[in-house]
Amino acid sequence: MAIADPLENALPADACAAAHRARELAAHLQRPLEQGRAGAWHCAHLLRLGRHADVLREAQPLLAGLLQHAELAAERRDLLRVLTLSASETAHFDIALDAAHELVRITAALDEDGPALAATFALAVCFERMGDGWQAARLLTQAMRDHSGGADALPLMMAQNGLCATTLGLVYQILGTDAEPELTALLTSARAAGEAARVLFERLPNPAYEAAILLNLGEILVHQGDQAAAEPLLRRSLAVAVAGGLRAHEWRVRVSMAHWLIASGNAGQQALTSMEALLDDMGVAAPQETAIRAHHAAYRASRQLGLDASALKHLEAVERMNRQRTMTQLRAQSRLFVTRSEAQRAQWQADQARQDARHHRERAAEFAASAERDALTGLGNRRHLERRCAELLPAAQRDRQPLALAEIDIDHFKAINDAHGHAAGDQVLVALAQLLRDNTRAWDVLVRHGGEEFVVVLPGMGPEQAAEVCERLRQRVATHTWPEFGGSPLTVTVSIGLTATPPFDVAALMQSADEALYRAKHGGRNRLCINGQA
Ligand code: GH3
Ligand code: MG
Ligand code: MG
Repeated sequence: MAIADPLENALPADACAAAHRARELAAHLQRPLEQGRAGAWHCAHLLRLGRHADVLREAQPLLAGLLQHAELAAERRDLLRVLTLSASETAHFDIALDAAHELVRITAALDEDGPALAATFALAVCFERMGDGWQAARLLTQAMRDHSGGADALPLMMAQNGLCATTLGLVYQILGTDAEPELTALLTSARAAGEAARVLFERLPNPAYEAAILLNLGEILVHQGDQAAAEPLLRRSLAVAVAGGLRAHEWRVRVSMAHWLIASGNAGQQALTSMEALLDDMGVAAPQETAIRAHHAAYRASRQLGLDASALKHLEAVERMNRQRTMTQLRAQSRLFVTRSEAQRAQWQADQARQDARHHRERAAEFAASAERDALTGLGNRRHLERRCAELLPAAQRDRQPLALAEIDIDHFKAINDAHGHAAGDQVLVALAQLLRDNTRAWDVLVRHGGEEFVVVLPGMGPEQAAEVCERLRQRVATHTWPEFGGSPLTVTVSIGLTATPPFDVAALMQSADEALYRAKHGGRNRLCINGQA
């Protein structure tokens, strides 16, 4: 299986085939973890090979299925990155933004520099491909400022190369306008980022990165007018891309070679012929950006040759594709309420809430058919709690991650039943379950443990964070507008007993939470008690 690992230095086509075999084998042997991991690797190779449509087809079921497993969290993040890139390349911006936002959100919770950089890189690529290179460059520059300290060479290199590519994208946007000084400045900063990526690359040789970094540097040199220095870089990049079967890279290098030919003087005809051949070769599989740049090169070559009709044809194609891109971008943005302004952070949060709601709905649907569901509230039942704890606790212990568990019990519930009937009590239980869903994350475990008693498991949270969540929950319940019975709304409160690992043992945690709950009840109800604290 080692050859299938994207971090190994195998030829992408071989590694892709190996990942495919590994996945089939794991499926056959019923080893879901290996199957999920190999599936994620396979997609990473498909991306390198430029097989974006295949990535789109394979990634989504993996994300909805095997890669939900807590042990595959790193693979899930990497696959979200891969999906973002492939969807961006093929102008599926709604998919790309969805994936990028989930990635940004889960890496924010992780609070580590490397993953944060990798996530920002993916989001930036998405913006860049939507035609907003300025936003992309801004995101990357800021992420580099915030996260380069603790990041490994690989995400750093990705981010530097991303910044280089993004800045280069800006160059293409203003190429042909009169913005000379801006062009020069952009090329200088693109080159600085590209050189930084190249230095980092020395420490992790890999054909996919080499092809990308040299291509970017070569393109920059072409636009800086240094054709002699550009040529060996572009040739090397092409050779690496061809040898590795990196089709998408190969296409891009061919476009750069055309720009190089045009800039070198009298090779316009060769450039035009090669771009027309390239557009033919790529056909409908053409990544949008590469197609736009190919038409642009063909336009420039035609102009150089004085072929007005051909120039016009390619210019029109550039215009048309740019318009299409803007349309898809606007549609994706309005659908996801993404703005390009500084209000973006707030937007992300809104978006996260939307995604959480979707996860909750999916989870509810999943449970509907399962024996782990509580029929009244749709939450998990005891069996669900046992199964999830058996997965989460060993994973938390191994990964040195905290985990919190809370027991939530409705205060004087019997009195509600007695005063307004059992059906009223049921309504309260259903509404409380919804409040729990609304105030927890998609991956928290919510369980109706007994009549009016609930358990919430918060993976990754220590006692302080979990206390905030529980306190918020308690307040939401107390201030919620409950249904009216006999003319006045019900008053409902809960008492909460909270505990956290260690120990990594469900029975011990339940007992500890139970003790805290007992104290909350005896302390006057409608309160949170944390085990180990007064
Ligand atoms: P405390 O504040 O001490 O928790 O008081 P309480 O009244 O909530 O606790 P107690 O354990 O005395 O009563 C729980 C009640 O919950 C008794 C039972 O009739 C009711 N109950 C259990 N399951 C259901 C259910 O599915 N629907 C309804 N409506 N009531 C239920
Ligand atoms: Mg009670
Ligand atoms: Mg009770």
